[in-house]
Order: sequence, then structure tokens, then C-alpha cells
Amino acid sequence: MTIGDHIKQQRHPYRIAAYIFGVLAIVSFIGAGILIWQYLIIQKIDIEPSWYAWAVRLGWVVGFFGWNGAMIIPFLTLRCPRCQKRIGTPAKNWQHCPCCGCGFDEEI
Ligand SMILES: [Zn+2]
Repeated sequence: MTIGDHIKQQRHPYRIAAYIFGVLAIVSFIGAGILIWQYLIIQKIDIEPSWYAWAVRLGWVVGFFGWNGAMIIPFLTLRCPRCQKRIGTPAKNWQHCPCCGCGFDEEI
């Protein structure tokens, strides 16, 4: 396995988590838009907060923080397998470790 493959493998669960939380945040955002539309345009004001309004709030908070976490945690924890230094989240065009200069296509 190459160094690049190793880094990709470490990032993979965070990519999936970022995708799921990102979709949740977007869906909640659209849901919140529908709520605001109801309140402002058709003046349908529920005194009791409905399950839907709570689901939108919860979805937004979980989605937003989950997405941020899935972006920040790999940035803080990913390490180069050769020099063990934190390398953040490498951009697609990176060919070398910024700390030790080993190529990402080299074997570990
Ligand atoms: Zn390195």
C-alpha cells in the first residue's frame, strides 16, 4: 500500500460522515425554509412547537456540527505514516508530505 492510499483510507470514514451530516444539514435547511415560508407567507403560526419544527432544529444542529466535526477532526488527526507529523487534509494535487518530503506514491 502506498502512503497516498493509507491517507485516503484514514480519511474515508470522515468523508462518508461529512456527506451524511452535510445532506442532513441541507435537508434541515430546506425544512426550515418551509417553516419560515409557513410563518411569513401563509401566517400559519403554531403556538405549540410541532414535532416537525423540533426535527428541523435538531437536524440542523446535528448536521451542522457533525459536518464541521467531520471536516475538522481529520484535519487535526491525520498523520503522515512515514514521519508521523500532522499533515492536515492534503489537497488532491499534493504529491509529497509537506513535513518529510516523501512521495505519496511511495510504499509505506
Ligand atoms: Zn511525512
